[in-house]
Amino acid sequence: MGLLEDTVVKARGALDVTSKKASELYNLQKLKVQAASLNGQLAKAYEALGRTVYDAHVGDAKSDDVIEALVAELAEKNEEYHSLLERISEARGEQICPSCDARLQADALFCMKCGTPLAKAAMEAEEPPSVPPDVAPAEETAETVE
Ligand SMILES: [Zn+2]
Repeated sequence: MGLLEDTVVKARGALDVTSKKASELYNLQKLKVQAASLNGQLAKAYEALGRTVYDAHVGDAKSDDVIEALVAELAEKNEEYHSLLERISEARGEQICPSCDARLQADALFCMKCGTPLAKAAMEAEEPPSVPPDVAPAEETAETVE
């Protein structure tokens, strides 16, 4: 392979990486916009539910059906919101705690907030844990002291 061909191949490789990163970023941005919009819808639905419950308690209005419909809508939107958050975390290389929604590192074994063991970690637990990168500098320091 000539030098020119080699350079062209390398340039193509770099381009592929750049466009992949750009599309990942775009994807993440799109997901964040969707999550923000859904979050706004959730806030409105909670407000509507609160008002309906308040009206039902203050007056004699029978609003069980309305409340049930609002609760069902909220449950659906919450589920959608949760799966959006999961996709955002995946795009970022993070994971979400299934019980408290805390944002965690992709390789976390337990939730740092509530201690729930994480499913992804359980699947990878068979592999031996890799040495954390921050161990290496400590050894260097010890050698320098000697
Ligand atoms: Zn948690």
